[in-house]
Amino acid sequence: MSSAAHTNSVPRRKKGESNGRPPVDLARIQAAVREILLAIGEDPDREGLLETPQRVARMYEELFAGLHKNPAGVLGKTFSEKYDEMVLVKNIGFESMCEHHLLPFFGKAHIAYLPNGRIVGLSKLARAVDALARRPQVQERMTQELADLVMRELNARGVGVVLEASHTCMAIRGVRKPDSLCTTSAMRGVFQTNLSTRSEFMALLQTGK
Ligand code: ZN
Repeated sequence: MSSAAHTNSVPRRKKGESNGRPPVDLARIQAAVREILLAIGEDPDREGLLETPQRVARMYEELFAGLHKNPAGVLGKTFSEKYDEMVLVKNIGFESMCEHHLLPFFGKAHIAYLPNGRIVGLSKLARAVDALARRPQVQERMTQELADLVMRELNARGVGVVLEASHTCMAIRGVRKPDSLCTTSAMRGVFQTNLSTRSEFMALLQTGK
């Protein structure tokens, strides 16, 4: 059968992007959102809410797109290079969803690594951040996953990752502390064992802030 025959049944997603998961079931999300509206005492058939289940389904598809990407694949293409000093990419913006409340948390990721003969395109690091952020997540785990991923895929001598994020589940519910900022870090290899490498990383994070 030609691939054109599948065009209607497989919208948007590119080949090889399923990451072993079934595709997002938009109709099922829509039905669930309608249920939630009923459960909170709303009328899902009033004009303003009519298309809300559909919009939320599309939004979830976008916010959880990382589930269908393989972060290791994102960093798969590396280049051999003699450069052996620290590479640091600061202020990589990300948006994620707290898996405890399904509310957004968002902020900035800073990634540094000491290459071991191989470097990666800088935009690929940002894509790896997206792949890990766009799924039900907790900041602590995302930080570690990012560090382990870069360490493994680049066979780096060391990796340092710092994430700073605001959590809407802290801001708008529970303790309601809208200005709180959560910082997490993960050090691997020489960033863990060598104090001067770690200090250089921390100093570079402060410059131009
Ligand atoms: Zn939360």
